[in-house]
Amino acid sequence: MLRMNASDNLVAYFSMEIGIDTKMKTYSGGLGVLAGDTLHSLADLSVPTVAVTLISEYGYFTQEFDENRQIEKYPRWPIEEHLKNLNVEIKIPVGPHQLHVKLWQYTLTGITGHTLPIIFLDANHQNNPPELKRLTQRLYPANHEYRLLQEILLGVGGYFALKKLDYKPSVYHLNEGHSAFLTLALYDEAKSQNCTDPVKEVRNKCVFTTHTPVPAGHDKFPRDLVREKLYLAHHLDSLHDVSEKNGSINMTSLALVMCGKVNGVGKKHTQVSRNMFPHYRFDSITNGVHHVFWASESVQNVFNTYLPGWKIDPFSLLSVLNIPRNEIMQAHHHNKIKLINFINNNFNEQFKPDIMTIGYARRMAKYKRADLIFYDLERLNAIAERYPFQLVFAGKAHPEDNVGKSIIHEIMTIKSKLNKNISLIYIPEYSIELAKIIIPGVDIWLNTPMRPLEASGTSGMKASLNGVPNVSILDGWWIEGAIEGVTGWSIGPKPKIGEEQEIQCVDCDDSEDLYRKLEEPILPMFYNAPRQFAKVQRNAIALHGSFFNTNRMAQQYIIKSYLT
Ligand SMILES: *Cc1c(COP(=O)(O)O)cnc(C)c1O
Repeated sequence: MLRMNASDNLVAYFSMEIGIDTKMKTYSGGLGVLAGDTLHSLADLSVPTVAVTLISEYGYFTQEFDENRQIEKYPRWPIEEHLKNLNVEIKIPVGPHQLHVKLWQYTLTGITGHTLPIIFLDANHQNNPPELKRLTQRLYPANHEYRLLQEILLGVGGYFALKKLDYKPSVYHLNEGHSAFLTLALYDEAKSQNCTDPVKEVRNKCVFTTHTPVPAGHDKFPRDLVREKLYLAHHLDSLHDVSEKNGSINMTSLALVMCGKVNGVGKKHTQVSRNMFPHYRFDSITNGVHHVFWASESVQNVFNTYLPGWKIDPFSLLSVLNIPRNEIMQAHHHNKIKLINFINNNFNEQFKPDIMTIGYARRMAKYKRADLIFYDLERLNAIAERYPFQLVFAGKAHPEDNVGKSIIHEIMTIKSKLNKNISLIYIPEYSIELAKIIIPGVDIWLNTPMRPLEASGTSGMKASLNGVPNVSILDGWWIEGAIEGVTGWSIGPKPKIGEEQEIQCVDCDDSEDLYRKLEEPILPMFYNAPRQFAKVQRNAIALHGSFFNTNRMAQQYIIKSYLT
């Protein structure tokens, strides 16, 4: 695969979404932000890389609220302000049509000046029929056929785009199964070169990361539809294991068959993936966040003072343990004031800087259980009688996800039933920019998913990096990062890695444990022993920041997956 110092050394990173800048609305949540963070680290580490994604001209959507319900708006993001038009086009056959695709580029520059091009595919071309012109308008459209066409464009179009631009990757990294049709283009190429074992040829070049144990996260398309739209579909007939019992093509299975290196995003998730797909070899590379991108300004100032060189070497964040607690407390106070001013000024609220502030923001999917904290309102209100607190929520539900939308509505309307000592706000339009204000500004970061459905989660890593302790269900990355009372606090029983059967706790057990933890030890420590609380904050930065970063993750990918 990757050979150090070879001229054709190049990693091609394929992702349906990439979150690199809050104004470039080509992401929906954790997957896209992870892609952006990964590319930041690859650029910082000067790893020769080119990335491919779709332009998503109208983004995922812009979230507004009307009578406490989510409304989706689709403004266009200013592409020309951010991307360079390469004035290069490609054509790919899609069904009976030729799909004309324009190419745009964003150039990411690492901290040592290394540049990394990100290629955006754009179907809004005058020669395309109207329905294909709209193909790259929205990220994750509900329409099944559109999603299939988008995935053909990403995988096959991406392959031809790199060819056209004269890139010659030796490694292809598929960030989730959306781009798995890329492997059919590579297979076709290997066959046309009379390769004796074309599957092996493709497997030698391809690395796959699977990101979710939620079945809906694994795209499946009817075989006939794939045959109708994808000119490479006949290759699927000679591949085993890529179809479901009903004949549908499973994109995850296709990626598993065609990629020689397969990774889960955390130790527990990797185990769950092995159980879901027992015939494949999974390795585990735990996710991270880009430490420079996600450390707030005040926290960066502390790092700059005490740990020169931390940007190029995030492992050195371990030495944060030597920084005086006052520094951490002051940096956090600054971030909290910033958040509270943001809330009070923009939403006419009266949030207070000396009150415990609990944050929860992520995609509003059912399994994330954003409403768990409200399971027993009487109990929650009783806690607030002794220890007041403020709740900050944000997050979007997929436009077709009525359950997710109803959770938003429920949280927004529960206010009237809360004790006077509880303030609550649901901030609209969660984004990278908002995450940078909310996460460092709260006092604890809450995460309450159903086990084992949180593959990794990354917002908690952003919190720890900024000295905000996590209070989380033991799932995803938190299983690896949790030291009770030292780096944060856990909710519910400890899972065993490698365990076949998951002990599924019901909401009442989990919420009860959450209330118990808030009441004792978290709230008393916060109010009565702030210097002890600051110790947890400092431990979170040092122990999590130094490990749960994308520099470490990228280096593991290089050694375990890219190099052979
Ligand atoms: C980090 C991030 C996420 C991921 O949050 P999780 O809690 O890991 O699901 C989603 N959206 C945005 C904008 C983020 O910055």
